[in-house]
Amino acid sequence: MSNPINTRPVRVRFAPSPTGELHLGGLRTALFDYLWAKHTGGTFILRIEDTDQKRFDAKSLESLMRGLRWLGLEWDEGPDVGGPHAPYIQTERAAIYQQHAEMLLEKGAAYRCYCTAERLTEMREEQRRTKQTTGYDRRCRYLSPAERAEREAAGLPSVVRLAVPVEGKTTFIDLIRGEITVDNRQLQDEVLLKSDGLPTYHLAAMVDDHLMEISHVLRGEEWLSTAPIHKLVVEAFGWELPVLAHLPVILDPSGKGKMSKRKKVVEGKEYLALVHEFISAGYLPDAMFNFLTNVGWNYDPTVEIFEREEAIERFDISQVNPKAAALPYDKLDWLNGQYIRQITPAALKAQLIPILSKQLKIPAAKLQADNRLDILVPQIQERLKRLDEAVEWIDWAFKDADEIVYDDPSLLLGRKLDAAQSIAVLADGAAVLRTIEPFLPDDIQAAFRERAAALGISAGGYFGPFRAAISGKKVSPPLFESMQALGRDEVLRRVAWGGEALEKMG
Ligand code: GLU
Repeated sequence: MSNPINTRPVRVRFAPSPTGELHLGGLRTALFDYLWAKHTGGTFILRIEDTDQKRFDAKSLESLMRGLRWLGLEWDEGPDVGGPHAPYIQTERAAIYQQHAEMLLEKGAAYRCYCTAERLTEMREEQRRTKQTTGYDRRCRYLSPAERAEREAAGLPSVVRLAVPVEGKTTFIDLIRGEITVDNRQLQDEVLLKSDGLPTYHLAAMVDDHLMEISHVLRGEEWLSTAPIHKLVVEAFGWELPVLAHLPVILDPSGKGKMSKRKKVVEGKEYLALVHEFISAGYLPDAMFNFLTNVGWNYDPTVEIFEREEAIERFDISQVNPKAAALPYDKLDWLNGQYIRQITPAALKAQLIPILSKQLKIPAAKLQADNRLDILVPQIQERLKRLDEAVEWIDWAFKDADEIVYDDPSLLLGRKLDAAQSIAVLADGAAVLRTIEPFLPDDIQAAFRERAAALGISAGGYFGPFRAAISGKKVSPPLFESMQALGRDEVLRRVAWGGEALEKMG
């Protein structure tokens, strides 16, 4: 497809600041970058914006790359893969920004500001007290050459600020929101280079977008208000502004504020926010890809599940909805369930092993070789929405009989049976279980049904005490496959324990 607005080859960058764990909003931006790059046959670039050293967190950088790769968003150029515009980590490019700040100083488009932090605080307090709008009062902009020379001679630390035109208007086009115009009087002389010699976002991102030949900037809506500054910075250099597209904010599950970066509990339900949390909860990358593609854009309102290639084929950045919306978490769970059902039981087993291994504290290799999983995984495949739910479904199968605690022995009662009758059912069934050879689900089931009929009780009433005895739970995977997974000896041990628990209750 042709490239709207400009005719440059499409080059898009995801430019996160490694100041904490990647959240779903960031991952959505990266996904849209990726979709747009792939749709146009362009290039997807990862650039690390780490110039805020106070907030830098090395761990988050690694986790960020893991999160992107988990979703399948391989970058064509970036920190570890290199590329024609390396380095892709901003702190390694400090000299480039300093040179560019000098260029603006020489042109008179920027100026050195020597105001101290104390002076700025006083100024703001005064502005608040006299009910003026707060912001830098441009004192250093109008220093005479002599005053400037004096400050330089005294070796005063300084920052570089953009000299924003005091009159006129600035207009830019947002691909999603249309033309936006602001009055320059509303803008501040923003800092471009800090006194530590590192650039602010306003300078670093513009310089890099230019040098890295970025054609489209897709970024969160929170940057919309600074876009006029960016236009002015780019103009001051005499460059072309990339096409801007500000993606809608993702709202909290309540639909009120912006989605928080922490997981949230609303009415007893937990809502995750960070990418690594979604990974450990067992969301499948394909489901997440499908889900996030529809957050702010829509593949087709009549199609729920689509392939990555199909999304790439259709994706159109100009069709993104500018309106903020809450994440439909239920939809994600539903989709994940659909994707879980699509994979083979062997693939599902492989996906479950890391989660089970961690939660059940059993080495992965041991689980891999364990035939209980081979029997149980196909039984729970239909029931899972998140992979971590498997723990609750099958943990009982990996415990010892004496670890099955009957917190609520009434679970062991068969429907419409009292304790004595339930004990009798367990004893009756135990005798049957000893005779079944081979120990296969259909045969056990047929024999149990026969016994229930002979005793004049319902099949459900007869099965109930066994389900609770072997799993300690009211809900578990199908009973007879569960028995097969445990094996006869273990089933008999648990049935005996269940009987004892009922005795104590009686
Ligand atoms: N470093 C900025 C952030 O993490 C990037 C914004 C942009 O994409 O330009 O929000």
